[in-house]
Amino acid sequence: MSAPEVVIVGAGPAGLTAATYLGRFRRRVLVVDAGEPRACWIPLSHNMPGFPAGVSGPDILRRMREQALEYGAEIRPGRVERLMRDEDAFVAVMDGQRIGARAVLLATGVVDHHPDLPGVERAVQRALVRICPICDGYEATDKAVAILGDSDKGAREAAFMRTYSDRVTLIHIGPADRLTQADEMARLGVEVIAAPLEAVRLEQDRVTALGWGGQSRAFDLVYSALGTSPNAELARDLGARLAADGRLEVDLHQATSLPGLWAAGDVVRGLNQIAVATAEAAVAATDIHNALRRADGWTVAD
Ligand SMILES: Cc1cc2nc3c(=O)[nH]c(=O)nc-3n(C[C@H](O)[C@H](O)[C@H](O)COP(=O)(O)OP(=O)(O)OC[C@H]3O[C@@H](n4cnc5c(N)ncnc54)[C@H](O)[C@@H]3O)c2cc1C
Repeated sequence: MSAPEVVIVGAGPAGLTAATYLGRFRRRVLVVDAGEPRACWIPLSHNMPGFPAGVSGPDILRRMREQALEYGAEIRPGRVERLMRDEDAFVAVMDGQRIGARAVLLATGVVDHHPDLPGVERAVQRALVRICPICDGYEATDKAVAILGDSDKGAREAAFMRTYSDRVTLIHIGPADRLTQADEMARLGVEVIAAPLEAVRLEQDRVTALGWGGQSRAFDLVYSALGTSPNAELARDLGARLAADGRLEVDLHQATSLPGLWAAGDVVRGLNQIAVATAEAAVAATDIHNALRRADGWTVAD
């Protein structure tokens, strides 16, 4: 490919969707990806529109990748280490290489804070330890559910899970003063255990036991509510505006506070959902195309 017009950082659902849209707008697109998009951990998603029988994360990614390639995107493995301004354009630095682009879309996602449990990544892949009640709370209907939390986020997720089950236990493993919702938990019928987790046993399709303070208990499912960290450093180092939680602030067209820099997906304030990531990517890609047309002197470009 000759020099790209648009560099997309991240080949998760947001980056790949934007690549498809921009390819179909006949833009030269380079997608750079450091590997393991969050979506690759999804064992089987039941809330992806258009897949009534469910679809796995790797399958979603494979389909999206195929579609982006079909319209000419180049997808290159690697990590963008730095983004720099070059007058009206950008330079992305990776592996000692400098890649120029007229516009950049950040689709870099977030990193999950996993609990310190043996084999936790395998347990996430097997859906024994879950991350996202909005994604798969429905599948926990009437199950015995434990939520691991270290702040009021744990309490919020425990309250959310009461939509599905009346056997919800919040295991608060953080400092006592970081759980301020204990009364509300009692009102909602959520059992609260404040103790560090000492043991976990996972067998086949069950969490056979969680242990604390010499006790142990079986649950069907464990949710981790320990939060995430956004991969927003590239934009932060350029001076883009961040929200209080570290995610990127964008306008209605997904443009960041820096001209020429857009963002979509989990790295932007939102729901951390594939449907949201792909919708944001469609909006961003269209706005990027229109902005480039305007920059080329088109007066009718919206
Ligand atoms: C276990 C689990 C189950 C889930 N289940 C569902 C579900 O059922 N339904 C649903 O809608 N959502 C679900 N989600 C959430 C969903 O996976 C995310 O919302 C979605 O993946 C976000 O897409 P994204 O493109 O923003 O980010 P990601 O998919 O995380 O992709 C970001 C990519 O950017 C790359 N990257 C980051 N920094 C750089 C850099 N500097 N240079 C190059 N590349 C970089 C990363 O390596 C990564 O590949 C689930 C998540 C998990 C973890």
